[in-house]
Amino acid sequence: MSKKFVYFFGGGKAAGSARMKDLLGGKGSNLAEMTNLSIPVPAGFTITTEVCRYYYANKKRYPPGLREEIEKNLTKVEKAMGTKFGDAKNPLLVSVRSGARVSMPGMMDTVLNIGLNEKTLQGLISATQNERFAYDCYRRFIQMYGDVVLGLKPREEKEIDPFEGAIQELKKERGVKLDTDLTVEDLKELVRRFKTLVKERTGQDFPEEPRKQLFGSIGAVFESWNNKRAIEYRRLNNIPEEWGTAASVQAMVFGNIGEDSATGVAFTRDPATGEKKFYGEYLVNAQGEDVVAGIRTPQPINIAGKTDPSQISLEEKMSQVYRELEKIYKKLERHYRDMQDIEFTIQKGRLWMLQTRKGKRTAQAAVRMAVEMTKEGLISKQEAVLRVDPDQIDQLLHPTLDPKAKFEVLVKGLPASPGAAVGQIVFSAEEAVEEAKAGNKVILVRLETSAEDIHGMAVAQGILTARGGMTSHAAVVARGMGKCCVAGCSGIEIDYEKGEIRVKDKIIKRGEYLTLDGSTGRVIPGKVPTVAPSLSGDFALLMKWADQLRKLGVRTNADTPKDARVAREFGAEGIGLCRTEHMFFNPDRIDAMREMIVAKNEEGRRKALAKLLPMQREDFVGIFREMDGLPVIIRTLDPPLHEFLPQKEEEIKELAEKIGITFEELQAKVTSLHEANPMLGHRGCRLGVAYPEITEMQARAIFEAACQVAKEKIKVIPEVMIPLVGHMNELKMQRKIVDRVAFEVFEEQKVKIKYLVGTMIELPRAALTADRIAEVADFFSYGTNDLTQTVYGLSRDDAGKFLNLYVEKKIIPEDPFQKLDQEGVGLLVEVGIQKGRKTRPDLEVGICGEHGGEPSSVEFCHWVGMDYVSCSPYRVPIARLAAAHAALKEKMKIEVVGEA
Ligand code: PEP
Ligand code: MG
Repeated sequence: MSKKFVYFFGGGKAAGSARMKDLLGGKGSNLAEMTNLSIPVPAGFTITTEVCRYYYANKKRYPPGLREEIEKNLTKVEKAMGTKFGDAKNPLLVSVRSGARVSMPGMMDTVLNIGLNEKTLQGLISATQNERFAYDCYRRFIQMYGDVVLGLKPREEKEIDPFEGAIQELKKERGVKLDTDLTVEDLKELVRRFKTLVKERTGQDFPEEPRKQLFGSIGAVFESWNNKRAIEYRRLNNIPEEWGTAASVQAMVFGNIGEDSATGVAFTRDPATGEKKFYGEYLVNAQGEDVVAGIRTPQPINIAGKTDPSQISLEEKMSQVYRELEKIYKKLERHYRDMQDIEFTIQKGRLWMLQTRKGKRTAQAAVRMAVEMTKEGLISKQEAVLRVDPDQIDQLLHPTLDPKAKFEVLVKGLPASPGAAVGQIVFSAEEAVEEAKAGNKVILVRLETSAEDIHGMAVAQGILTARGGMTSHAAVVARGMGKCCVAGCSGIEIDYEKGEIRVKDKIIKRGEYLTLDGSTGRVIPGKVPTVAPSLSGDFALLMKWADQLRKLGVRTNADTPKDARVAREFGAEGIGLCRTEHMFFNPDRIDAMREMIVAKNEEGRRKALAKLLPMQREDFVGIFREMDGLPVIIRTLDPPLHEFLPQKEEEIKELAEKIGITFEELQAKVTSLHEANPMLGHRGCRLGVAYPEITEMQARAIFEAACQVAKEKIKVIPEVMIPLVGHMNELKMQRKIVDRVAFEVFEEQKVKIKYLVGTMIELPRAALTADRIAEVADFFSYGTNDLTQTVYGLSRDDAGKFLNLYVEKKIIPEDPFQKLDQEGVGLLVEVGIQKGRKTRPDLEVGICGEHGGEPSSVEFCHWVGMDYVSCSPYRVPIARLAAAHAALKEKMKIEVVGEA
């Protein structure tokens, strides 16, 4: 532990700097830094986070010597400010504020106006010539100190603050509405009542001794590190408890002592759009909280910010101070090389800076600022790329709710697929299609979705389900379609019969409007306006820089030419997964598919497959054309066959008639295909093993399509992928079929095309025996959805019901279906890659599970040496940026290691 516990700042020199965030907290270190930059900061000192840690480790005692250090620094503050703590004539008042390494806005406590008592109050009155102001400070101080230090703040939300109660009572007696209507005499009475209240509640007099007040406040700030709110905030934001908070003691300055005083907040650039313009608000004759609290309407800081002529900007009101502020903000932005969020106070025409920190910004502003600051020479391209958070740009790729819109949230579900959607409620895929045909916009509401709902999902604006998690059918399919989806919204009751949804006592009926926000999971009744995304300009340039830096390739999961086109526009460099089963659900094919499934023998199956072949070939032709010059991985049939069959009696009857068998026969078939555990059942390559003719048809469709487009001078690079392989012999057998068909088709068509045959690695056995599997695979693609399911033994379809609880109880840090479990599932991924490449050094390796579009998982894929990641079209830019971040972080690590 270092010996120094207290760091001075102000008066032109500081003991700390911005590099000392760990020790001085964000606020303290930036106050020191501003002082070092010769920016006027009210003098003060910061008590380090080490003291906080000591305090908790030593039964809430302070380290020896702390008191003396504080006294020494207090004297320095007095000197710098020309006032004296506890002095009756010219008193110094101070604030004590918390400040952790990272900002925890509003979570911990603050005490202002420390040092006020009956004596110093008189000093404040004569120094400010403003009795009302002085008494207002005094009553505010007693209330804050009483709440924070003496613990009179209500513990229950329902209880009212006793001080607030006293204010209300007095206002009622006086017949006034606002605090500002209270006279000096009223405030004096309030001070008296507050003190009586303290005596009654604590049994002691309110402390008059300024030093007692100061140490009480410091203790309370350290205590607030462990209040309920702070603990919860730390948990949500992964902030370690051991960090502790610093406490900054700083001279008070007042923005509320006349027309030549003011207070304000500003951003060095527009935090909403990123535009390079000084942007902020201020209030004359006010204290800091008044700007934020919205009691009075703040005025724009400069003429450029005026929206109506009646406003008076700071630039006009106090032009000299404004010029000074301009110089300071420019200096701060240049120094920190980033947009700053600043707070200032003007006391009798003198400007004081109270805070500077990195400003929060929208995704749009982050991109624009990063690009413009690079062009201004403020930061490098690498820094620009690192400045934009991959997760954040999701906001830019979909329509979003208009930030200016006001609305009430009905209920929240999982933010399963981002974007905003507005439409009329429908409850079935058929209704959705019908309404869409009539030109109406719909929201499809289902308990959960299945493959049969796909055509309805395709035409809906958004999807809302009551069940299912982040990798539920609705979530995966919606993300693939780039469509807004709120899943697992257990707060709604769906009544298909009545055609309504209920949330507590609120009922919304079929045909009524609903708005979904898939980025946050919010469900809102009625229509909320939305704004469209833009992918050109600064965004395109930033993505170009990211592409120059990344090593990982980025492909897409796409099943249709339309998805392929969208993904290519988003920068996809190929298709990493084309799920062929989705093609069979189209109403014009499902019959042939069902006929194939219920066929009694191979001959019957072949007959039905012959009907599917031309349709499937057309699908591939469309996709190959879109992906001219880029690789396309097509996966053979994967889901259990029962998913294709009708379940309702009516539908079974209808189908039996269509294909010329009896109802009983078909019913028996449907029953026979039922599986207790279909995810581990007859699916994936196991279908191709049982019915090689299915693989054969699919391979033929792929190669015939490839030959057809090759003749159109399109460069086609097909890669055939076999799913759910656990044993190398499964792949060997399937590969034999694919190779034979390829040979036959090339002979027939007199064309030769280079192709690859590979497998998904989505079972633990496949990863563990990857060296053997690589003997027959040209490539691996990690199916981390199934791999997570099988490694963890967690059902993809059911885990949503309890995984949240696991995360809440900190049993696991994150839902492993959303963020790859690097420790467990990731270990198998690594093992598989190493083993596979041992056998085949040029083995192409990628990932096509949902994790391929999740930034931390993409970084993991970079570290383990994958060639590419593949994700849904709308996540392609996110993956590109995350891949660039990974490459840059690796470079920085190498540089840091190199320096050492
Ligand atoms: C996977 O399992 O990760 C995968 C991509 O396949 P699917 O989601 O189609 O099972
Ligand atoms: Mg899978």
